[in-house]
Amino acid sequence: MNEREKKPKHNESQRRRRLSKSQRRYSDEFLRRLRNEIPIRSVIQTLSIPHKYRDGYFRFLCPVCEFTHTGLNPEANLARCFRCERNFNPIELVMAAESADFVLAVSYLAPMLPGDHQG
Ligand SMILES: [Zn+2]
Repeated sequence: MNEREKKPKHNESQRRRRLSKSQRRYSDEFLRRLRNEIPIRSVIQTLSIPHKYRDGYFRFLCPVCEFTHTGLNPEANLARCFRCERNFNPIELVMAAESADFVLAVSYLAPMLPGDHQG
């Protein structure tokens, strides 16, 4: 009877294991640069996420709930959705907007790093 409820849990743990394994392919420093050195606003623009200034605030269309009750935290380089009560760093934003996995999001963002060729 409970077979059907158990299955997704198992898949979920498999998925998480794969994710943490692929995350280890990148150095912490590289991932830190992706999160901090690519302005979150550029990520929104590059992803073609609808956005605008309203009353002096930058608003973007939340890729999760598709509302614009959102804002940016430039100091932390995070995009915030007040409706989802969720922050997105550049990697998380690409994952949410493109339905991308972690590896794909990293490869999407890597060319946007400033001074990438110094490498
Ligand atoms: Zn949202």
